[in-house]
Amino acid sequence: MKPFHVYLLLCRDGTYYAGHTDELDARMLQHQTSDTGYTATRKPVQLVWQGEFESREGALAFEQQIKGWSRAKMEALIAGDWERVQTLARSKQGLDGLRQAQPERGIAQAERKIPVRPEPVEGPAHPEPTTPVRPPVEGLAHQIVSGAAMPQRRAIAKAITLLESTRADHRAQGDELLTALLPHSGHAFRLGISGVPGVGKSTFIEALGLYLIDKGHRVAVLTVDPSSTVSGGSILGDKTRMEKLSVHEQAYIRPSPSSGTLGGVAEKTREAMLVCEAASYDIVIVETVGVGQSETAVSGMTDMFVLMQLPNAGDDLQAIKKGVMELADLVVINKADIDPDAATRARAQITSSLRLLGLQGHPEHAHHNDAVWHPQVIQLSALLGRGVDAFWAEVSRFRTLQTGNGQLNTRRQQQARAWMWERIDAGLKQRFRVHPQVRAALDDTTQRVLAGTLPASTAARQLLDLFD
Ligand code: GDP
Repeated sequence: MKPFHVYLLLCRDGTYYAGHTDELDARMLQHQTSDTGYTATRKPVQLVWQGEFESREGALAFEQQIKGWSRAKMEALIAGDWERVQTLARSKQGLDGLRQAQPERGIAQAERKIPVRPEPVEGPAHPEPTTPVRPPVEGLAHQIVSGAAMPQRRAIAKAITLLESTRADHRAQGDELLTALLPHSGHAFRLGISGVPGVGKSTFIEALGLYLIDKGHRVAVLTVDPSSTVSGGSILGDKTRMEKLSVHEQAYIRPSPSSGTLGGVAEKTREAMLVCEAASYDIVIVETVGVGQSETAVSGMTDMFVLMQLPNAGDDLQAIKKGVMELADLVVINKADIDPDAATRARAQITSSLRLLGLQGHPEHAHHNDAVWHPQVIQLSALLGRGVDAFWAEVSRFRTLQTGNGQLNTRRQQQARAWMWERIDAGLKQRFRVHPQVRAALDDTTQRVLAGTLPASTAARQLLDLFD
């Protein structure tokens, strides 16, 4: 579920333009490059406010409302003075409607406090929208690390939105923010959970999250959903998920970023994880579906990777074929309540599969080593909340063992190094593609490779030489 934005733009003639979108950056670019929808004198020049909504309906309703607002009320909104907005609403129209369509609590607020002048803005005939004023990174970092509950929540949402932006200036601010937050992160336990749609991930995470909060933890849930980047829709986000957990003040849930490659989505989730850790969430759960390569990405950013399975034979074979079983530190067979016998059989099968893979030394065999973690298989019922405590006992045992033998630290170091190289690879590729000389030669070179007149390896060398 990616957020929908309602935004207000200041126009050249001093009026405001209201709109809504689920792709804020792309829409701002459209406003910048197109004249459709307004005259040259009314052309929008500056983004002055934006708020986030969880549904298009909510965003649309709010957009419709602010279109009918007085200038004073819009300016109160831009200034972040929600009380004044409400006072003005009370004097003019029913407050109830306004409350209903208010941006999601904790997510949206006036982003930028900038004075708005009613007189026309000076500028060229087709001025570029100026860069909106953003909250100073230092203040944002401070609110994340030590803010009270609500400002902290808002700051986390703002930070993650900033980190998800693809604009170069946002990226620079995002990097600054991450550097400021890094010393405060790293103390949480990072738990990856994967499984096919319908296996019961959200049911389980809701039960686990509430169980952990009850034990005094603060829980953040992030998702990596590769489907959302391909179709714009989301396997994980198309239903009401984790109803109780999502409204709990000790929990923070963020849906998958929904643009970019899997690598890009994983990068943003990884960064969101650091933000949540800096905000003292001590358990971070990263959830993903069992499609594509997302399991590898998630196991590459977490301390422990849990694979959820259904209690029917055959599923484990699929996981083995895809190489996912090798990633699992713990296999959970869910829905054990439906057919306990099937669940027991599945447990035995998966345990023997793990042995075949050499991942689970038999306690009685010589190569079994008590100082090393051997992936376990447990069964539970997320729906009935049965087995959640046994699950957490396994996770705690894993954590203690891996901390003691140094594996946890080694894993994080390896992940950080691998991550750095992955981003270098991705960055180089991107720079290569936009390099002027490479671009000029690329089409022709590709055609020659396709026509069989130039060996692919020679073509690659020639293009790389141009890049150098
Ligand atoms: P997800 O797609 O992996 O997030 O799966 P959901 O958590 O949405 O669960 C899919 C369906 O399975 C829902 O109807 C759940 O109520 C049901 N479900 C989840 N866990 C259990 C369980 O332990 N036992 C039973 N009987 N049903 C479950």
